[in-house]
Parts: sequence; C-alpha cells; structure tokens
Amino acid sequence: MSSSRYWELSVPVGPEVSEGLTNFAWELGALGVVEEEAAGKPPRLRAFFPKTEFAAALEERVRVYLDGLRALGFDAPGEPSVVALADEDWADAWRAHFRPVPVGRSLLVAPPWDRPPRTGRLVITIEPGRAFGTGQHGSTMGCLLRLEALLARGATPTRAIDLGTGSGILAIAAARLGVGSVLAVDEDPDAVASAIANAARNGVCDRVRCVLGGAGGLDAPDAPLVVANLLTAAHLRLAVRYGRWVTEGGALILGGILDAEASGVGEALGAHGFTPRARVSVEGWTTLQFRREPGPRGRASRAALHDRA
Ligand code: SAH
Repeated sequence: MSSSRYWELSVPVGPEVSEGLTNFAWELGALGVVEEEAAGKPPRLRAFFPKTEFAAALEERVRVYLDGLRALGFDAPGEPSVVALADEDWADAWRAHFRPVPVGRSLLVAPPWDRPPRTGRLVITIEPGRAFGTGQHGSTMGCLLRLEALLARGATPTRAIDLGTGSGILAIAAARLGVGSVLAVDEDPDAVASAIANAARNGVCDRVRCVLGGAGGLDAPDAPLVVANLLTAAHLRLAVRYGRWVTEGGALILGGILDAEASGVGEALGAHGFTPRARVSVEGWTTLQFRREPGPRGRASRAALHDRA
C-alpha cells in the first residue's frame, strides 16, 4: 500500500489538444495542472488529483475524452496513465511550476517559498494548497486585472464580496488594494481553509472574512464591489441573484467565462439590471465587468428573485 495521497495523470499532448485537455483536467477536479516541455522529450500534460478519485475511472474518462477528440479529427498522440505520486514529488512538481507572476501594473503573485526581490509591486503571497487560484490561470489573471484597474481609480469601495474564493487570491488582492472588508465565500472546505491561511500570510485576516457555503444561498448585505470567478453555467444560474449582492451603482466582476460564452453572460446580466463596463480576455478566458444600474431594472431583478424564492 502506498502512502501517497495523490494521483498523477500524465498524457502526451500535441498543440491541438493541450488546452482542451487542461480544461478537462480542471473539470475532473485536478488540484494542479502543468504542461511540460522538456528538451528532447515530447510535450506532456501532468495533472494531480487527490486519492479520493479512483485511478481507473480517471484514466477511463480521459481516454474517452481523447477518443472523442480523435473522432473529431484532432491529433491526440498518446494514451493517459495514472500513477501514485509521493507527497514529496507532488510538492516538488508543484513548487517547480509556481513562480512569481507579475499582474497588471502593480501586482505580483508569489508562492511563499519564492520571495521575489523588491520590485515595487504589491506582493500577494499565495500557497495554492488544494485550492484553485494560484494567479497563473487566465481567469484569475483577468479578475485581478479588472480589480486593479477599478481600485486604482481612487474611490475604493469599503466592502466587497468574493464568490468562489478558492485560495482567497481575489479577496486578498482587494484587501491589499485598499478595500476595508471583504467577505470571501466558497462551497469547498479545503478552499476556505486555504483562503484563511493565505489571508493570514498576507496580513489581512482582519479584513477578509472567509465563509463556507454555496453562493446561491448567500444571505449577506449588498456591497459596492462583487467579484465571482466561477464558470459560465454558474453565472447564468446566479444572474437573477447578483442584483441582491451588488449595491446600486456598484461593480460586478465575473470571471471563468470562455471567450465564446461572453456574449451570453452579458445578455443574461443585461436582463437583470447590469450594464457592461469593461472586458478583458486572458488565454481564452474572458472577464466581464458590469455596473449595477440604479432604478427599476435593478429592482426588477429583486422582484424576480422574490417570485422564485
Ligand atoms: N477566486 C479564485 C478561485 C476561482 S475557482 C480565483 O480567481 O482564482 C472557483 C472556486 O469557486 C472554487 O474554489 C470552487 O470551490 C468555488 N465554487 C464553485 N461554485 C461555487 C458556488 N456555487 N458557491 C461557492 N463556491 C463555489
């Protein structure tokens, strides 16, 4: 019996399939995904899973996914393999790939073991642990860029809500950029634990409150800034509720939207009293920023919510 707590999925990949397979690995519940290109070796994708997943089932799902791609005419060169990974290997593989990343004009997201030299940037220290949100993903990056742009403008909101906080990265960035109090929510207990630890690492425990719970059931006072890096399906489900969390005239930043899905999310939010303000796309992931319009349209969404309740 191995004492390892992780599975490593390894799949040789070509340029045609690596992005799709990376997204698929995240959907399957990967804790980390790295695309590796070592000199002289064919590129491969490595993804790490907790042992709560069954190795055979994992391998089979990836095999079926690759067969599907091949049936569509994509070049998917190899077969997946899943092996147990020693904890130390996991830590090493993880650490080797998480380097400080500059974001926008003023931020630097860094893991605790790689203290960057002074750069003049505001350092957000993130230990990814088991939660999503290392700052390396296009959706996180897009949300950070919009947060930075919004908060650099001067009128810093006193309160914010971060729905689907993961590692806590967006809540922590908001607090470090001056927001007085941030409510960080996640339905995954590992994420909440990791967000609390990261808030402590960044010295913002007093300003970031982390709570376990699904966004749909959140009953919190509205805030002038709400950020949610979830997936499109979740945004469409929550479209009717966002008006309840965002103060009239306030800002809503939505991430985790594939570029092709952005217009659909824009329409759904438009129907609930939000107007588009800005958008950014990073590595195929769109982040949309909206303003909650005061007046009847915003209130209409409250009525709709009431009808559904
Ligand atoms: N905010 C981080 C993490 C985003 S990943 C970043 O930008 O990088 C999305 C996170 O949302 C995950 O941690 C997941 O557990 C959580 N999540 C997904 N759906 C949710 C829901 N309906 N309610 C609360 N949390 C949710």
